[in-house]
Amino acid sequence: MPPITCESIASHPDFVPLASIKDLRVDLRYATTANFMGRNMYSPLDCAWAHRDAVNGLLLAMAWLTRQRRGAHLCVLDALRPQRVQELMWAALEGTPLSQYLAPPARGSIHSFGMAIDATLVDAEGREFDMGTSFDDMTELSHPTLEAAFLQAGALDNAQVSNRHLLGEAMRRGGFHGISTEWWHFDCGDRVAVRAHYARVL
Ligand SMILES: [Zn+2]
Repeated sequence: MPPITCESIASHPDFVPLASIKDLRVDLRYATTANFMGRNMYSPLDCAWAHRDAVNGLLLAMAWLTRQRRGAHLCVLDALRPQRVQELMWAALEGTPLSQYLAPPARGSIHSFGMAIDATLVDAEGREFDMGTSFDDMTELSHPTLEAAFLQAGALDNAQVSNRHLLGEAMRRGGFHGISTEWWHFDCGDRVAVRAHYARVL
């Protein structure tokens, strides 16, 4: 699939504005200064979009969550991240141990296809569930694969791990897959298939 520009997605049939999804909370951290870069990475771009396949997954995740836990709401922290922004982030972290948290631009991020979602859970008042770390906390404490060890060591408690599992299970019901290093990140479907069959947003 040929790439498309972020400026053209509003007229592209495969992309859906997050604001059109009823009951979905959206708090795009890279569109604020509350992120590891400390500045708004998206302005003047509108990045509150996702591919329609990911949006269908979000709808399934939200429906399951509503049935499972009254008062738990899905909140999207990042969705479409254009390749040009991915490149800026990579430039900031390249050569540091933190680069393990970013896909190198040559391979690219699934976010740049509108097919990855960073999310957390919030209550009816918009307060975030305690996940043990904040979004974009680039430490081992954020690694889902190390949760059992951190639980045993007392660095995470049962409530925090159970909140992460509730989020993860909701996203799995929507066809998303988590990754080993970030509790908040989920890819829609198979990453290899996304890179092969979806259009990258530049
Ligand atoms: Zn992510």
